[in-house]
Amino acid sequence: MKTTQIERMSWTDFRDAMTETDTIIIPTGVMEEHGPHVPLATDTIIAQHCAALIGERANTPVAPVMTYGYAANVRRFPGSTCLDPDTYRQLMLAFCESYIRHGAKRFLIVSGHGGNTPVLDILAGDLYDRHGALTFANDWWSVLPQLNPEWNCQDHGGYFETSMLMAAREDLVNMDLAHAVGESAISEGIRKNYVWKFQEAPVGVRCDVSKFNRYGNVGNPPQGASKALGEQLTEAYVDFNVKLLEEIKKISLPV
Ligand SMILES: [Zn+2]
Repeated sequence: MKTTQIERMSWTDFRDAMTETDTIIIPTGVMEEHGPHVPLATDTIIAQHCAALIGERANTPVAPVMTYGYAANVRRFPGSTCLDPDTYRQLMLAFCESYIRHGAKRFLIVSGHGGNTPVLDILAGDLYDRHGALTFANDWWSVLPQLNPEWNCQDHGGYFETSMLMAAREDLVNMDLAHAVGESAISEGIRKNYVWKFQEAPVGVRCDVSKFNRYGNVGNPPQGASKALGEQLTEAYVDFNVKLLEEIKKISLPV
């Protein structure tokens, strides 16, 4: 195919590309605060960057990035936006159904934002039920710790995510504005860092982050983040997905 970026294809390019493959990569992010040192589109930029590299290496079409998503817990930070989860689900469903109409049968969703994850699970079920299409979705912060235990990617605008962003757009990072946000006590027993924990077990809560954290970045402090680390993480994540795509393309689809 001439290009793997669907937004740069003509309709005839897309038609021809779909004679070579029935798989489409869809990057999805959000617009939300990540601390004062990185942009609102951090998740979107990372997802788009990784998806573009995966698409190029796997010769697989990549859809335009979905910039908006579901981000209820940071919506009080200026500039953060949040779709109703059902609106997000319906939009993603409409994009996928449009591609299905033109030959897509498998999707790889490259997610840059954890808030979207439960909705993407439902989307995958819907696409299979309605169309028999297979939808795989994964994110870098779940994949990378499986590849290397030292890559404990549990942060939001922290060491790992800031590094990932630097690999894509170092010019958008201002480390002079990066703040370390440590663990804090919520009650006598519950402590919070990236997740809320009681006796070291995650006990999960979805709430307004701005009430517990004035900067907005969470988890591993961003200090020490680097483009070199980001490139290493990105390479590992891209390589994982290129191999995953090879497997996805081998699956015999249900009739
Ligand atoms: Zn993020």
